[in-house]
Amino acid sequence: MSPVEEFRAEAREWLPANLDRRGTAVADPHTPEHVAEHRAIQRRLFDGGFAGITWPSEHGGRGLTPAHERVFQEEAAGFVTPDFGILSVTTFGSCVPTMIRHATPEFLARHVPRVLRGEELWCQFFSEPAAGSDLAGVQTRATRVDDGWRLDGAKIWSSLAHLADWGMCLARTNWDVPKHKGLTWFGVPTDAPGLTVRPIRQIGGSSEFCEEFLDGVAVPDAERIGDVDRGWSVTSTLLVFERGAGRPGAVETPDAPGPLPADLLAAATGRLGEREVRRRIASAFVEDYVVAQLKARIATFSRLGKADAGVAAYGKLGLAGATAARARTALELGGAAAVAWDPAEAGAGATAHAFLESKKPAIAGGTEQMQRNGIAERVLGLPRERAVDVDLPFAEVLKRAREW
Ligand SMILES: Cc1cc2nc3c(=O)[nH]c(=O)nc-3n(C[C@H](O)[C@H](O)[C@H](O)COP(=O)(O)OP(=O)(O)OC[C@H]3O[C@@H](n4cnc5c(N)ncnc54)[C@H](O)[C@@H]3O)c2cc1C
Repeated sequence: MSPVEEFRAEAREWLPANLDRRGTAVADPHTPEHVAEHRAIQRRLFDGGFAGITWPSEHGGRGLTPAHERVFQEEAAGFVTPDFGILSVTTFGSCVPTMIRHATPEFLARHVPRVLRGEELWCQFFSEPAAGSDLAGVQTRATRVDDGWRLDGAKIWSSLAHLADWGMCLARTNWDVPKHKGLTWFGVPTDAPGLTVRPIRQIGGSSEFCEEFLDGVAVPDAERIGDVDRGWSVTSTLLVFERGAGRPGAVETPDAPGPLPADLLAAATGRLGEREVRRRIASAFVEDYVVAQLKARIATFSRLGKADAGVAAYGKLGLAGATAARARTALELGGAAAVAWDPAEAGAGATAHAFLESKKPAIAGGTEQMQRNGIAERVLGLPRERAVDVDLPFAEVLKRAREW
């Protein structure tokens, strides 16, 4: 038996004895109770040797291959595995993989095993009220103090920060150099004195995002991620992961197309003989498969060390377009029932809700326009966007902006 198949057999034996079978109920992953329950499941995975399958063994992972990860996911598909909503993506998909490349061994020894045991979930303190697409324009200030740093500023759109334990925070450590050259990353506990985390209520009624205010938050130098003032190289790594490369589940050989999408078939009940209805379902089916192929291609590039932000932008752009188109198709096929429903009916309103949510991938982790810019400049080699602020000291950029 090959080592991968031996691993499959190991997982097949362990899973039924340690995890519950997946039911049909879909839980809301955005409650403290759910998060606590899934931390315990994460701990069970860790104790069983199935957490961090591809992460380096010196940091508590198993140091195995994406093929091992894949077979575990196949075997675990029918079981309840840890689901922290978007915090699964930020913790396991972008923050920790970035740290593994840039943080000190002491930092990794402190944090990665805790992440694998479900004791630390990481959110992202990147965006600010005046810095989103222009991430290098952040104005949160990190000032050197005796034993570390003092952080002051404001962050926004931090997904599930109110349920996270730590935030990966981008701050400015040098104002006298161009904007990309004075940035540094820090790990900040979400309960740090001086840090206020406020959930933001959204159009769909939930509070998935937060805003934060940092007022003299003390951060030891040991919690710095990467070199002082060299944070942009950490950001470059992070943006590749943030755009989907290396995410758990980013398989390199996607399955053949599966059955037709059940939600669309259900929405079009009684009209499946109509030519236009059939065309739209087929189109959604093809797009789902193309996006899976794109993700797989980027995962391969990532494993080979070839996935820069330009390449990752294709996956992000594909997902954004397909998600929006699919949600619109579901809404249109559903007709009146998709936009007006009896609130007492279980699951009612799901299609309309999905439509509202479908705009997210076109903004999160860099807007569609920024992905197109990235592809144009990094992949196609078109002239770079004209920028007036990249060579000036950042303090001077702000001074001129105030004068304009
Ligand atoms: C679901 C979701 C989850 C998120 N999670 C997090 C998180 O966990 N942590 C975090 O820090 N942030 C998070 N964000 C914030 C996200 O990263 C920003 O919203 C995004 O980067 C855009 O920044 P902005 O909102 O400031 O828009 P802006 O940058 O102000 O952009 C406004 C518009 O101008 C366009 N634009 C801007 N610059 C250019 C340009 N150079 N060329 C062409 N068009 C341009 C944009 O495409 C956009 O249409 C999240 C956002 C969403 C939607």
